Amino acid sequence: MSNVRFRALESLNSRPPVKVEAPSNKISDYFGINVFNNEAMLKFLPKNAYKAVVSAIETGEKIDRKIANDIAHGMKEWAISKGAKHYTHWFQPLTGTTAEKHDSFFEMDGESSFEHFSGGSLVQQEPDASSFPSGGIRNTFEARGYTAWDPGSPAFIMESLNGKTLCIPTIYVSYTGETLDNKAPLLKAQHALNTAAVPVAQYFDKDITRITPTLGIEQEYFLVDTALFHARPDMEVTGRTLFGHAPAKGQQLEDHYFGSIPSRVNAFMHDFENEAYKLGIPLKTRHNEVAPCQFECAPLFEEINLAVDHNQLLMDLMDKVARRHYFKVLFHEKPYAGINGSGKHNNWSMSTNTGKNLLSPGGNPKSNLMFLTFFINTIKAVYEHADLLRASIASAPNDHRLGANEAPPAIMSVFLGAQLSQVLDDIEKKVGTVKMSIEEKTALKLNIGKIPEILLDNTDRNRTSPFAFTGNKFEFRAVGSSANSSGPMVVLNTIVADQLRHFREAVDALIDKNIKKDEAILRVLREYIVETKNIRFEGNGYSDEWVEEAKRRGLSNYKTTPEALDAYVTPKSLKLFEENGIFSHRETEARHEIMLETYIKKIQIESRVMGDLAQNHIIPAAFRYQNFMAGCVNKLQNCGLKEDSYATQLKLIRDISNHISHIQTGVDEMIEERKKANKITDVRKRAFAYCDKVRPYLDVIRKHIDKLELIVDDEMWPIVKYRELVTIR
Ligand code: ADP
Ligand code: MG
Repeated sequence: MSNVRFRALESLNSRPPVKVEAPSNKISDYFGINVFNNEAMLKFLPKNAYKAVVSAIETGEKIDRKIANDIAHGMKEWAISKGAKHYTHWFQPLTGTTAEKHDSFFEMDGESSFEHFSGGSLVQQEPDASSFPSGGIRNTFEARGYTAWDPGSPAFIMESLNGKTLCIPTIYVSYTGETLDNKAPLLKAQHALNTAAVPVAQYFDKDITRITPTLGIEQEYFLVDTALFHARPDMEVTGRTLFGHAPAKGQQLEDHYFGSIPSRVNAFMHDFENEAYKLGIPLKTRHNEVAPCQFECAPLFEEINLAVDHNQLLMDLMDKVARRHYFKVLFHEKPYAGINGSGKHNNWSMSTNTGKNLLSPGGNPKSNLMFLTFFINTIKAVYEHADLLRASIASAPNDHRLGANEAPPAIMSVFLGAQLSQVLDDIEKKVGTVKMSIEEKTALKLNIGKIPEILLDNTDRNRTSPFAFTGNKFEFRAVGSSANSSGPMVVLNTIVADQLRHFREAVDALIDKNIKKDEAILRVLREYIVETKNIRFEGNGYSDEWVEEAKRRGLSNYKTTPEALDAYVTPKSLKLFEENGIFSHRETEARHEIMLETYIKKIQIESRVMGDLAQNHIIPAAFRYQNFMAGCVNKLQNCGLKEDSYATQLKLIRDISNHISHIQTGVDEMIEERKKANKITDVRKRAFAYCDKVRPYLDVIRKHIDKLELIVDDEMWPIVKYRELVTIR
């Protein structure tokens, strides 16, 4: 018997680890060799061009067109010296992936040919962009968008088997100036945060003139053999399994997490890490994750814009390198039901030009008050905009993960740890009720001078919180593994920027009433502590009790993407984005529409694939087995046996009929619901229809398919089973 499943399994045999050589014994020898970094710029750019780039990076100063020509020339010379013949603007449209359009440096003038790269081509390009999502902003008659160079993220060279390409990170905007990508709003949010945070930091330290958000992205992923992956059309098309009975041994033993990394996987890891180092991605950590075949990698943190670019690049790289090792990387949030999903923990903080981490408590009361200021303002920001933060991580795949028993709930809360909870409780109790000198308030009575040693204690960790303070940074854990971190980071940086502006206004108002600065700061912080108590939660976020408790506290719990996304277009959010210079109303509404469209498409595709597989693979296989059984019964009857000797067979035949009929009805009804949904013109209503009317059929049909998988002869089952998928040979 040979079906797709067996052919795939046979082709596996044993796959030996693929040998790759690192370019050198020391990572530092080849780190960033494919990046147009400081060293390369010093070598290839004339002095004034170099200075222009540096000041563009540091102050956002515009680069003169003439100088752009010099920069382009130097960049081209460097790229050619590295073996690149082509260049591309590399950008992040709202499709969720990265996009490129390649041109060669090659030019002709009459008979003569030469290599050329102009400042104009470096600074701006017009990709044929009519197919990128624009949420109604770009009608076909103005179907022009352009990409514009982001000097803050260095150009790099992508290697492929037969050639190399110079990639220039860019933003992507419509002809009329609206942002159509993930990078432009992030740069704006970064700018907004800097503008709002510097004056607050200057209450404490006048030397602080620039504040940059920092981000370290932990990336979880699954690996599956390519042969098995391609034998499952649902995985190929949707990135996840739409059905499959749970394996006898899943993750109950939790032996994978602490186990050694399989050698084939290890070979893959070394390979993509080498490639990442060449591109200046500072990977630091690799390990097994909880679920079988699940792994994680994490880099050293970087300035936020770079961290997001690097994560996008890394995902792309991992996908490419995996092919050499006969692996497919699954970035989907929930490839397998009943097995842990994957996240992308966003570790976030703010760093100053003086080298200080604003979320790291210092050794003296004054710097601790500064720490508390940024710490409490972040909590207040999350409290004020919890729904928007929830919306920022909403996606069809992440719906499977949030609120499942191994992932942060869809309820937003903040974890502080026992130590800091105590500090906040103390401030709440003491300030304003007891007369104290400023020094006493800040240092002594509040004990805030003692924070540092205890803070970085690893035992005071809560792995079940969606937004946890982890010693010197906040970790936004609810972000999905396939997401572009820009979405949630735009929201986080914007809400903190907005909050810091309000904080400054409140403190200044008190100072104007002759209240001393420290006292004023503490008073406002105390108000915030009292106000935001509801959002603080130190317990088990995965428990049912928390769902109840959160309800009592009045916290929202939006379980599905369409309802969560509404938070983007409330008057409050529209105002927030506009006032902080991130999105106009039109831009926010367009994004909302694009996210709804994406949701609809994902469910629509899953539903179609489910229907096809059920009809063309599952039902025929079940019929074959049923037919075989019926033949058995017939023969037994012919032998003159009584019914009780083939009762089991008869029951099986009936059970199979029963499941087949449920599957068939499910598929038919699902198609009807899809047809109805497709007729709805309002995109929000259509998304709700897909969510509430179409999507439930995926579960109904699945239930019966999974039952059939248990009944039907293994030899006849055509779809690769879970136990086969989650084993690495
Ligand atoms: P964990 O704390 O989750 O056990 P790590 O200490 O390795 O693991 O940190 C996870 C990620 O947090 C890493 O990418 C790390 O670089 C990042 N990180 C550490 N400090 C900061 C910071 N100040 N700002 C942003 N990210 C940070
Ligand atoms: Mg972590």
